[in-house]
Amino acid sequence: MIKALRELHQIQSGFEAADTMLKQSIGVETCISGCGQCCMHNVPYWRTIEAINAVSVLLGTDRLKKAVSIAEGWLLEHHKEAASYEGMQVGLASPRIHQEWLDLRLTQCPFLDEKRACLIHEVRPLVCMARGVTLSAVEECPRPAGRGETLTQHQIAISPRLRQRMIEYWAECKAKNQEWGIASFVPTLLYRAVEPVKFKQLVLDNQVASAKVIGVDYEVCLFWQPDLDALRAGISPDLVVAKAGRM
Ligand code: SF4
Ligand code: SF4
Repeated sequence: MIKALRELHQIQSGFEAADTMLKQSIGVETCISGCGQCCMHNVPYWRTIEAINAVSVLLGTDRLKKAVSIAEGWLLEHHKEAASYEGMQVGLASPRIHQEWLDLRLTQCPFLDEKRACLIHEVRPLVCMARGVTLSAVEECPRPAGRGETLTQHQIAISPRLRQRMIEYWAECKAKNQEWGIASFVPTLLYRAVEPVKFKQLVLDNQVASAKVIGVDYEVCLFWQPDLDALRAGISPDLVVAKAGRM
């Protein structure tokens, strides 16, 4: 697991480097602090390995506690966009749940805080990291145009190499541990990472709308519980790997 997390950090650094390069090239910030417009109509997806990373980085902080509480509230909230409780096996095969899933994705991300900042900023999904540097549609983005840009066309910083590395990374993760590659909503996977037993029970009790758990196989949600237990106990990541008996 440590190798997978280290590689994820390298990809995150790649996005940060791309952001810095773009800023230098256009001469303006790529994102306005406190704007949050992108997050107002977007509950993103991420993968289990990203959720594990977020928990390991934020472990023991009030921010993680707050994020978990928000995630639980979001899971239990009766969104009009996601009202079905038909059991997760139905998934995208059901046209109604598929539509609810599509609608839900366009609602506000629960991790956008009252100051319009991201509660989990440094561990936010790669898709969110990419957005600041790859957002080409600028209808909604209020950041000023920089050098070489127009009001309707902002530059993109992502490199084909970085994109390719991401694709390879997800494939490597899945090959190593299928669980790590599972994708679902950010609050869903964060909550499951910290509270796997409660999550499983909420799903079994049909308290969570089906559209919110698409992509999650609750039968394997206890799979990496030893890793989290060890992290909670303050054991070093290397020992976590040894204890979990993987890699
Ligand atoms: S809309 Fe533009 S300025 Fe606002 S958060 Fe998104 S990228 Fe940043
Ligand atoms: S995780 Fe953070 S950056 Fe991503 S949509 Fe939510 S608030 Fe915005």
